[in-house]
Amino acid sequence: MHRPSTIEQVQEIVANAPSVRVLGSRHSFNDIADSSELITLEAMPTEVVVDHAANTLSFNAALKYGELVNTLSAEGVALHNLASLPHISIAGAVATATHGSGDTNGNLATAVTGLQLVTSSGEIIEVSRGEPDFDGLVVGLGALGAVTRITLDVEPVYEVRQRVFEGLSWEALFEHFDEITSRGYSVSIFTRWGETNDQVWVKSRVTDEAERAGSDLFGAVAAAVDRHPILELDATPCTPQLGRPGPWSDRLPHFRMGFTPSSGEELQSEYLLPRRYGIEAIEAVRTLGEGIQPILQVSEIRVVAADRLWMSMSYGEDTVGIHFTWKPKRAAVEDMLVQLESALVPFAARPHWGKLFNADAAVIAPLYERLPDFIRLVERLDPRGAFCNSWLKAHVLG
Ligand SMILES: Cc1cc2nc3c(=O)[nH]c(=O)nc-3n(C[C@H](O)[C@H](O)[C@H](O)COP(=O)(O)OP(=O)(O)OC[C@H]3O[C@@H](n4cnc5c(N)ncnc54)[C@H](O)[C@@H]3O)c2cc1C
Repeated sequence: MHRPSTIEQVQEIVANAPSVRVLGSRHSFNDIADSSELITLEAMPTEVVVDHAANTLSFNAALKYGELVNTLSAEGVALHNLASLPHISIAGAVATATHGSGDTNGNLATAVTGLQLVTSSGEIIEVSRGEPDFDGLVVGLGALGAVTRITLDVEPVYEVRQRVFEGLSWEALFEHFDEITSRGYSVSIFTRWGETNDQVWVKSRVTDEAERAGSDLFGAVAAAVDRHPILELDATPCTPQLGRPGPWSDRLPHFRMGFTPSSGEELQSEYLLPRRYGIEAIEAVRTLGEGIQPILQVSEIRVVAADRLWMSMSYGEDTVGIHFTWKPKRAAVEDMLVQLESALVPFAARPHWGKLFNADAAVIAPLYERLPDFIRLVERLDPRGAFCNSWLKAHVLG
């Protein structure tokens, strides 16, 4: 494990390593980050710069979302969205197309306007939105080089309130899917594939119509106390609910920095598929409910807006994400993934790059129209294959 503190050290380490990967905050559930040599950028100075004229924010790549919040508040700016937790590094999240939810919200990588990378020759390259190959470089799966600096879009700071509704029926979900996902700026449906859906979390910007969320959501009832997405768990690690307005950064993630996110002991998988197939795909997963339930902690259904990033799970079309937080029962989960992936074939489901899945490169290839261009980019920037690992060969490059 290398711990460079300057970009020159990163250049030297990368240029001399036969095989290397950069680690983010290590929240991925598969072997995407594995290599014989690893680099953490945590010792690099953070150098956060807000450019108010350009509405951007730049920083060195090891930073976690939660670590940016104080600087952003002091500067009066915010990001467009966050994942369920603020604990992850921005570079790692961007590399795997990590997302939150919202009809009009692209994944977190869509906020990137510029990247600095150290390629396997040790050369530094800088690329900005609109330049050739930019759309291929952002969701890079760690395969293109060490991302050392990132620039993101920012917007004026805003407040969000979140409300939780309990017991949404399947009929209501299917009949009113679009009305439910448009009920807030970011909406998540938590289910354990039982009689009803456990919870719907509706996060609204305070400037949105104040009472749009109301006290009832198609028969689901507003919770009277704060909830954890896994109903039995204590809600202390969760961001405040009950419609209390608060900073975007303390409402958009489900979990608070400083606490263990989710249940802490778990595996995760997620499939993103074109929104037009959303209901059919959810119904297909529901038919596997009996097999899923014994190994599941909770599922989350979210929506992500289309983007143009070549390796993004939302490339080209608005998507629905069907996520599984599994109990740590690896063999049973792997068996279930075979069934799930087979049930989701008709819906062109793309697995989340940072979570567990089976699909190999032959299955993945037809799902990504720009994959040939991405492979050319990998070959051009890393001709000696220093950033290539077994996971990448098995699932992406073939
Ligand atoms: C509790 C929990 C909740 C989660 N919630 C969500 C969610 O709401 N939405 C969602 O989409 N995902 C979610 N995830 C998945 C998570 O966002 C992704 O796995 C993400 O990639 C983790 O980022 P990381 O910094 O830990 O990256 P790592 O796991 O450390 O690395 C991921 C990849 O990024 C590469 N990488 C990291 N830094 C760099 C760099 N500087 N340069 C080049 N490559 C780099 C690595 O090489 C690797 O290929 C969750 C995970 C957990 C554990």
